[in-house]
Amino acid sequence: MKPRDDFEICIVGGGATGWAAALAAAEAGRTTAIIAPSAAFPVGRTAALFAGSIELLEQFGAMPDLASAAAPLQAMRLIDDTGRLIRAPEVTFYAGEIGLNAFGYNIPNRRLVEALSERARNSRYITIFEDTASELSFRNDCVHITTGRGTSLKSDLVVGADGVRSLVRAKTGIAVRRWRYAQSALVTTLSITHPHHSVSTEFHTDRGPFTLVPMQGNNVSLVWVERPREAALLCEIPDEEFARRAERSAHSLLGAMQVTSPRVSYPLSAGLADRFASGRALLIGEAAHIFPPIGAQGLNLGLRDVEALKTVLSLNRSRLDEGTAAEFHRLRQADVRSRTLAVDLLNRSLLTGLLPVQALRAVALSAAGGFAPFRRFLMQQGLAKTFRGL
Ligand SMILES: Cc1cc2nc3c(=O)[nH]c(=O)nc-3n(C[C@H](O)[C@H](O)[C@H](O)COP(=O)(O)OP(=O)(O)OC[C@H]3O[C@@H](n4cnc5c(N)ncnc54)[C@H](O)[C@@H]3O)c2cc1C
Repeated sequence: MKPRDDFEICIVGGGATGWAAALAAAEAGRTTAIIAPSAAFPVGRTAALFAGSIELLEQFGAMPDLASAAAPLQAMRLIDDTGRLIRAPEVTFYAGEIGLNAFGYNIPNRRLVEALSERARNSRYITIFEDTASELSFRNDCVHITTGRGTSLKSDLVVGADGVRSLVRAKTGIAVRRWRYAQSALVTTLSITHPHHSVSTEFHTDRGPFTLVPMQGNNVSLVWVERPREAALLCEIPDEEFARRAERSAHSLLGAMQVTSPRVSYPLSAGLADRFASGRALLIGEAAHIFPPIGAQGLNLGLRDVEALKTVLSLNRSRLDEGTAAEFHRLRQADVRSRTLAVDLLNRSLLTGLLPVQALRAVALSAAGGFAPFRRFLMQQGLAKTFRGL
């Protein structure tokens, strides 16, 4: 049978946001293509996903497949380990305080993408092209897309879910502002001898956060933000020595540690597209916004892009067009820009030697620790679905 080549919506990119977008489009009853080359995942990468993201995964029916891999996050403990004169008090946020069993779940990236793509394979609305998009041309009434293997298809709307070096973004002419931090994030997984009790623990050092996120069993994923040269050294030392240094940085709170996956270091950078849509194209996930792995925002924000996509697709338009994309851009502005600013300020507030900024941080965390209504407000804001229209 000749494969179909005319779609209402075409998703480019098969990371978590791409597959989720395909499922959202299918749920809205739109004929959907996804162009997704098979992906290689670094072993040991996980994403902490908050309540809103988990709700979306539940709506897609993906959570049962993830149950054996997802670890609940019931509390978040922040410890000032800057060793500075002005230090913030330790604060723990409990999900129970705002009536939740968990803030969310920590899920291995690979399992997440497998679960979503499996659902997509079972949808009659979705056609999968295991390929890359290599050319796009925009017409008045549609978008033409050519794949690396020479397949041509056409679509009313195209969604760029194709990551940091997005082809869709480039072809649409949307500029992206990128900036770098003089930091790298070293990522690995560790087994521990003391139970984590579903508490995510974040030590704030003057080089960046050192974060231990619960995984299933006596295991945690580590995101260790350091100066680039130190991160490179930490990647090279033997496993046993690394585990000892990690235990020391964790003040032995989780007992002795053992490395259970390869160590990978990512230079810390961020970025923001000037617009999230133009003409018949819209951008989601890292094609639209690049976050450093601080505060677990990147994929949560990407999945909120997918929720916004769901919203605009449900706006009873018989044909998807520029108006659909423009509405998406309007919905995503405030959320993406405010989170970008918040994460940037949070990171810089740790690195700065400026005493007034250190004092402000200490006051804010003291207030959070000592005043339950303020703590609850912060938790609710942290989990809020901050975009108009939902
Ligand atoms: C160390 C680390 C820890 C993190 N922890 C968290 C966390 O705890 N919580 C959180 O919310 N976020 C976290 N993030 C961020 C999160 O991992 C990313 O936001 C998320 O993976 C981005 O997903 P994506 O689908 O947008 O992009 P990607 O995962 O990059 O997917 C893009 C896909 O597009 C494909 N592609 C590219 N070009 C083309 C083309 N021309 N045609 C077709 N396909 C193409 C690529 O092959 C790729 O599969 C973390 C990031 C890092 C680096």
